[in-house]
Amino acid sequence: MDKVKLFKLFENQNFGDILFDELMKNHTSFKIGGPVDVMIIPKTEEDIIESVKFCRDNHIKHFVMGNGTNLLVKDSGIRGVVIKIGNGFDKIDVIDNKVICQGGALLSVIAKNSLRHSLTGFEFASGIPGTIGGAVTMNAGAYGGEMKDIVTKVKALDKDNNVVEFSNKDMNFRYRGSRVADEGLIVLGVEVELNRGEYSLIEEKMKDLTFKRNSKQPLEFPSGGSTFKRPVGFYAGKLIDDSGLRGLRFGDAKVSEKHCGFVINVGNATFEDVFTLIKTIQKIVNDKFDVMLEPEIKIIGD
Ligand SMILES: Cc1cc2nc3c(=O)[nH]c(=O)nc-3n(C[C@H](O)[C@H](O)[C@H](O)COP(=O)(O)OP(=O)(O)OC[C@H]3O[C@@H](n4cnc5c(N)ncnc54)[C@H](O)[C@@H]3O)c2cc1C
Repeated sequence: MDKVKLFKLFENQNFGDILFDELMKNHTSFKIGGPVDVMIIPKTEEDIIESVKFCRDNHIKHFVMGNGTNLLVKDSGIRGVVIKIGNGFDKIDVIDNKVICQGGALLSVIAKNSLRHSLTGFEFASGIPGTIGGAVTMNAGAYGGEMKDIVTKVKALDKDNNVVEFSNKDMNFRYRGSRVADEGLIVLGVEVELNRGEYSLIEEKMKDLTFKRNSKQPLEFPSGGSTFKRPVGFYAGKLIDDSGLRGLRFGDAKVSEKHCGFVINVGNATFEDVFTLIKTIQKIVNDKFDVMLEPEIKIIGD
């Protein structure tokens, strides 16, 4: 569909905030990505459902994102619509030992709420910079924990525009994946079950993990987190280091010297800079160790 027609279609819609020709680099932790034709920032569940239905009914290509911390977007941007589930659709309720979150709630904020209620079990996720919707999609994990361990219910919009609810076991959680991606579900809400704990111990654990993260990860630079999935039996960062690629740079994309598993943006890196670096790393590591590294970050755009 041509852009003028697309803009006209969305001009008077009421799906929350609607932005036109919005630069994706303003919405990704990599700080990379050209313009998306239309960005919708829904504020209610109805906004999400109606906007998705509208896109489907009008055959408009659409992509759902959370906080953009696992995305690498092309410099040419994205044709069609991005629905950003985050700010404004991020309510968190704590009832007994259950935390009930809207899909756009940030993990860091859920962690703070859990601490405030002396609930333990969410500490591992306190430093992951995404939303709970993104985390359930990716089965995000760190320091021995993953979403699979704590999620009890997921409320989602399915391909036929039905609102459905899944139990943990229905979610097909696995290493960095779940049913969400398999079936193109849209996560509307998540229930997490935690245990009663002691405030000071929970706080101490979160502080300890934050310290570990700050000392090991290049958080001072924009990135998409770990660039590659952990290959079975290896660590991506070690393979990259052992291949002599620490600090390798294309344009402003660089293999972090602090943690070789991270490709970082040291200035104004373009998609091509990062993509060339990823391809180069994959080839050299594969030649040397016969292991093909698979990107963990999602590459999107037209
Ligand atoms: C500095 C840094 C550290 C990180 N550390 C970790 C870590 O320790 N462990 C880890 O697992 N990850 C880590 N990540 C990666 C990232 O934070 C996680 O993958 C996170 O779960 C992504 O959430 P998001 O909201 O940013 O999703 P996005 O990046 O916006 O999207 C990721 C995927 O989820 C989908 N998605 C997002 N929201 C929804 C929704 N509501 N419904 C349906 N699909 C949706 C998108 O379509 C996309 O496929 C890190 C990233 C950075 C930048």
